[in-house]
Amino acid sequence: MANPPATETIAAIATAPGAGGIGIVRLSGPEALALLRTVFIPRKPQPRFLSHRLYYGTVINTSRQVLDEALAVYMQAPHTYTREDVVELHCHGSSLVLQEVLRTLFTLGARPAEPGEFTKRAFLAGRIDLTRAEAVIELLQAQTEKSAQLAVHQLQGALFDQLEAIRNELVHILALLEVAIDFPDEDVEIVQHTQVASRLEEAVLLPLQRLLAMADQGRIFREGIKIVLAGRPNVGKSSLLNVLLQEDRALVTPLPGTTRDTIEERFVIRGMPVHLIDTAGIRLHQDPVEAMGIERARKKMQQADLVLFLVDASAEMDRPENELYQSICKKTHIVVLNKSDLVDPQRIAALTHQFPHGPVVSISAKKQQGIQELQDIIYHSVIGEGVDLCEELTCAPNTRHRVILAKTVAACQRLKLAMHDHAPVDLLAVEVQSALDYLGDMTGVTTTDDVLDVVFSQFCIGK
Ligand code: GDP
Repeated sequence: MANPPATETIAAIATAPGAGGIGIVRLSGPEALALLRTVFIPRKPQPRFLSHRLYYGTVINTSRQVLDEALAVYMQAPHTYTREDVVELHCHGSSLVLQEVLRTLFTLGARPAEPGEFTKRAFLAGRIDLTRAEAVIELLQAQTEKSAQLAVHQLQGALFDQLEAIRNELVHILALLEVAIDFPDEDVEIVQHTQVASRLEEAVLLPLQRLLAMADQGRIFREGIKIVLAGRPNVGKSSLLNVLLQEDRALVTPLPGTTRDTIEERFVIRGMPVHLIDTAGIRLHQDPVEAMGIERARKKMQQADLVLFLVDASAEMDRPENELYQSICKKTHIVVLNKSDLVDPQRIAALTHQFPHGPVVSISAKKQQGIQELQDIIYHSVIGEGVDLCEELTCAPNTRHRVILAKTVAACQRLKLAMHDHAPVDLLAVEVQSALDYLGDMTGVTTTDDVLDVVFSQFCIGK
């Protein structure tokens, strides 16, 4: 879907704000080379700039004052990010210098690039589809190794290729149905129906459902999960938090009630980002500051994906603790029997039977025992038993994709039902066409301008 080439030349600082070793000003559009010739004086005079070659020289403003020493590269269309002429000026990473260079380019006729406009131009020129453009955003925003890896796969077409395979199947199904429309002979229709039904199931619905599952799992890797640490004071919540973080972030003291507010920390379990919230120990207390902390703890627990209910294995549970467990056991939770170093295995076995509603694990935060097992149970409580997503997840469709995938599945389900009810073939063809249109929305073939604006507005300027 190549659009007509852009007439305006855009410019922006492509590197992150703040001081750095180098800062790059990027230009794209028909005037990029002319602007390079005006603002950049190569040390050795050049009859012409060769494509994809670095030149050393100075950058000047419109009064021919030297702004910086820099390296410049001219990249001739179409072998560029945007498929237009692109120029990069690699200056020193001073925001004053970069702003000055940019101002000069604007004075000479370039216009400021909008957020994501370079990538949008690459998309509009047909160099990348919309899922690849979105992968660029994912990559820039990735917070873990795994989400960066998923974004790179998607950038290389992992999602697009799967969608293409599904699209080809749907096109084939449409062709089969059209034969039945053109030759409305009963035998042809029966043969086509059987073929369509099996192709629809295996080559369309199954892969679509797999992608939907990946979207759910991918969200976990992209956004992470919220875990709340709950339990009465002094059971070892702060100690466990410190072990999980491998650093002393929370204050650990033998006095009950030292964690008055909630503490939030982030870490990663097997590639899965975790936001761990240590709550104020919940107990009946008159101290108003502590009471506020307790209230906040209850709220946090409501919003958590998983609650770790910590119990001191060496002490008897009191009434508020039992009440707390009753409110937690309806949520996804893990009971963590801490201070196992102080008790014998029989005590642990007896305690385990008291918590029938979810997994129970015994640890010692102090001796750092059972921590690996706890992490495994956390991972599988969220991801599912026996699944290792780091291995299995090859791409991670985002929320926009998820919505479209669900609509495509619904259209295919309607098709399946209509076939089952022996609906007229032209009605079946309508459902196939709507599934095809949805896939077109996903890759950007038929995406509306509003949706494109939303997608590209998520980018930073200069990308
Ligand atoms: P919190 O109030 O629930 O955050 O509990 P803390 O983490 O502040 O721990 C309370 C007390 O229990 C401290 O003296 C810790 O050293 C001790 N403690 C924590 N975990 C363990 C453990 O696994 N074994 C033993 N023996 N003591 C522990």
